[in-house]
Amino acid sequence: MKIAMVAYEVYPFAKVGGLADVLGALPKAIEKSGAKVAIFMPFHKVVVKNSQKFGYQLTEVAKSIPVENVQTKETFDLYESQLPGSNVPVYLIANEYYFSAENVYEGPDLAEQSIFFCAAFIQAMKHLSQQFDIVHAHDWQTGLVPVYLKTLYRMDPFFTRTAIVFTIHNLGYQGIFSPNYMKFAGLPGYLFNIDGLEFYGKINFLKGGILFSDIVTTVSPTYAQEIQTEEYGEKLDGVLRLRSDDLYGILNGIDYEEFDPATDRRIYVNYDLNSLEKKYENKKMLQRDLNLPVKENVPLIGMINRLVDQKGLDLIEKIADYLFLFDLQFVVLGTGEKKYEEMFQRLQQKYPDKVSANIKFDIDLAQKIYAGCDMFLMPSRYEPCGLGQMYSLRYGTIPIVRYTGGLADTVKEFDPETGTGNGFGFREYDPAHLLMAIAKASYFYRNEKQHWKRIVQNAMQTDVSWERSAKHYLRVYQEALKKRRV
Ligand code: ADP
Repeated sequence: MKIAMVAYEVYPFAKVGGLADVLGALPKAIEKSGAKVAIFMPFHKVVVKNSQKFGYQLTEVAKSIPVENVQTKETFDLYESQLPGSNVPVYLIANEYYFSAENVYEGPDLAEQSIFFCAAFIQAMKHLSQQFDIVHAHDWQTGLVPVYLKTLYRMDPFFTRTAIVFTIHNLGYQGIFSPNYMKFAGLPGYLFNIDGLEFYGKINFLKGGILFSDIVTTVSPTYAQEIQTEEYGEKLDGVLRLRSDDLYGILNGIDYEEFDPATDRRIYVNYDLNSLEKKYENKKMLQRDLNLPVKENVPLIGMINRLVDQKGLDLIEKIADYLFLFDLQFVVLGTGEKKYEEMFQRLQQKYPDKVSANIKFDIDLAQKIYAGCDMFLMPSRYEPCGLGQMYSLRYGTIPIVRYTGGLADTVKEFDPETGTGNGFGFREYDPAHLLMAIAKASYFYRNEKQHWKRIVQNAMQTDVSWERSAKHYLRVYQEALKKRRV
């Protein structure tokens, strides 16, 4: 099976968020299973800078290729590279005008950029004479790929055996623009209606991706259900319900080699399942570095997040003065909205022996927190997949989560009767429920040492690898080939 993945971010070429991690890891895992993958992305400005840092080559393979349909004189050059640590080819679509901003998501015109990229991707496949069984497009920037392939290229023999999979990484970002872009994109006017690209008088690229692909996936089974409801659907729940037979949720994974407490060089002391006492060495050193009292038996709770509403931070604000009546310690690492940055700074001033607020982006400190804490907090309002809970499971740091999206699919409530479960949580978005979950976790931590050891073991043995996800994607690709619509 041959798969073409198309996306705006791919680690290590260009990374803004989790999308890059998925594109950097999933193709490798799929390749190991025997399928062939090629990746297509824009040649962003940072790609050159990162080539020195990460040591990949960039080779020009074609110059000045014109795109079809789009009302532009711009052409693109095609470069080839390789995903480090694999044989996966990466094709980069270069255009000075569209892709020369410092930031991946900036530029002269985001709608035009995305339209140009989708059209260029189609020409790039043709130029390379590479036919794929599956085109796998990611997020709204590539939403017009399925639209073009299922309309203007529907009869094109080059694509007759190609099925399309489209993945939504976060429904909060949809790519909504003026309807005037229909003309720029060269798309027929009949597509601008409620069963097509129209969305409250505008054009919605994500909606195009959802409606025109053979299969739609998102990054966890629970989020796949949630986004079909009004509460989580961001006004696309009706459209998603229409596709419910073709909508799958597949969890992301984490890189097991890079994130391994036995070998991670960023943590104080390495450890594994059989040397858990060394995990507690990490705790002591973390407490020391954060200027918290060095105490072994006090639960140390970590949180690493973008400090934004999505992450449920208002719940923490509401429980703070009750929470810190308990003998526990809390370390937060994050940046984001000012109101939340200030909230954590205020809490640190008020409870200097209990709270450490680190308002910055710091990958090394993040690993020390994953390794050194006893528990990890993610009370998210919504969470398509979530990576924090996966890293903390891998490092034996017990997640306390709101059971939503990917958090509900990876964290299972500990049951002392059966000894199963790898964390604690709550369902209702309510401060009292969060407080109870923290109190419950702290109770087990303090009073039930045998149980606690079991929870940590269960956590570290939870499979959050990419291999597991890759198997799911391969099944979904097979399904897409069967369901392929003409
Ligand atoms: P989202 O994609 O919504 O930001 P995720 O939980 O999926 O949330 O991924 C966030 C990732 O970014 C985690 O790996 C987390 O460790 C990391 N991260 C977030 N904020 C920081 C920070 N300030 N410093 C270091 N790493 C961070």
